[in-house]
Amino acid sequence: MTSVATRNPETLVIIGSGPSAWTAAIYAARANLRPVVYEGELSREMIPGGQLMYTTDVENYPGFATGVTGPELMETLKRQAVRFGTRVEQENIASVDFSRRPFRLKPSYSDEIEALTVIVATGARANWLGVPNEERLAQMGGGVSACAVCDGALPAFRDKVLAVVGGGDSAMEESLYLTKFAREVRLIHRRDELRASKIMADRVLNHPKIKPVWNTRVAEVQGYDAITGLRLENTVTHETSHMEVGGLFVAIGHTPNTAFLGGQVDLTPHGYIKLPKAWRTATSVDGVFAAGDVMDDYYRQAITAAGTGCMAALEAERWLAHHGLGESPVLETAEGPVRAGDD
Ligand code: FAD
Ligand code: NAP
Repeated sequence: MTSVATRNPETLVIIGSGPSAWTAAIYAARANLRPVVYEGELSREMIPGGQLMYTTDVENYPGFATGVTGPELMETLKRQAVRFGTRVEQENIASVDFSRRPFRLKPSYSDEIEALTVIVATGARANWLGVPNEERLAQMGGGVSACAVCDGALPAFRDKVLAVVGGGDSAMEESLYLTKFAREVRLIHRRDELRASKIMADRVLNHPKIKPVWNTRVAEVQGYDAITGLRLENTVTHETSHMEVGGLFVAIGHTPNTAFLGGQVDLTPHGYIKLPKAWRTATSVDGVFAAGDVMDDYYRQAITAAGTGCMAALEAERWLAHHGLGESPVLETAEGPVRAGDD
């Protein structure tokens, strides 16, 4: 049986440690909300600091004219949040109870805590193929990626033959985007029919630089420091073959990190947190807000995650003020008074 900590409820608990979580923490800490961030634990699937910990160069995050490495950016954001008084706990939140107030949250190892407001910023993780060398080369910037918009423009991929794996809309988007930089894009799909919407599929199949490779799965990524090729297996005949490539983009879907919510927050059919109102981060549970990739399967960028982290912190602050619990009320906009849950 778990015991409940006797200290007062936390004003704001932020769950996650990507750009959205640290941005929310910076705003909340500067508003004297004394936020506590549960940054999560290192596991095979996740890493404190979030998805950017898996990448080398981030060239599209504003403010870094010569680029920044993912880990450096995350460390800087964390230090900025801590500088204003954010407390950091190095545990996952394993489960939540949003059925009563204050909310209850159970970290993996320590006692249950209580919170007046919560920002869920747990991100999403790219699905990987799980074949030899894939994970290692992805982590060391060796030419394996799950994000063409993030990495496609890097010099290492220019004028190369690039492979994209997947048959859904993400794989179509990645393939089309990569045609700007690649000599040729090979779209590898395990069946002979695409899952993608017809309009996207048509664009891809009619593109002169994209060549589909049907009924094929990647059995192994080859290369030591950088990718050199792929060992392929035909899914019908089981024959194996080799393909020389200068990069591999895996686009077989993402999994949002929402399982620990236990169905207590409304989700989309794909498992992302549903936001009832446009341009608001409030979830179906009053007092619970969501930011970053956990609620966004459309933009999936560090800067948009950070932007929504800012939004969630401001909304939490206004929610608290509206309930007489906060110290920094911002109760007016140009459109009139702000009430919790207002349009
Ligand atoms: P995430 O970065 O997804 O982090 C969430 C973190 O929260 C998890 O890692 C985990 O540590 C923690 N967490 C999860 N569950 C729990 C829990 N239950 N309790 C406590 N903690 C938990 N975007 C760009 O703009 N530019 C780029 O160049 C770029 N490159 C990328 C390269 C790669 C390889 C990848 C995978 C993504 C890249 N992206 C890039 C996308 C960008 O990383 C994401 O859009 C962004 O990180 C999303 O931020 P987030 O705050 O939603 O959370
Ligand atoms: P998705 O639709 O689930 O497609 C995933 C694809 O990856 C499928 O083709 C699947 O093959 C393949 N796949 C899955 N696991 C695999 C594995 N282990 N090995 C090889 N291939 C594997 O995912 P998504 O493309 O990310 O799209 C998710 C949702 O977002 C969809 O609703 C999509 O329409 C939407 N979306 C829309 C747009 C847009 O409209 N512009 C862009 C991106 C995403 P099978 O087909 O054989 O199952």
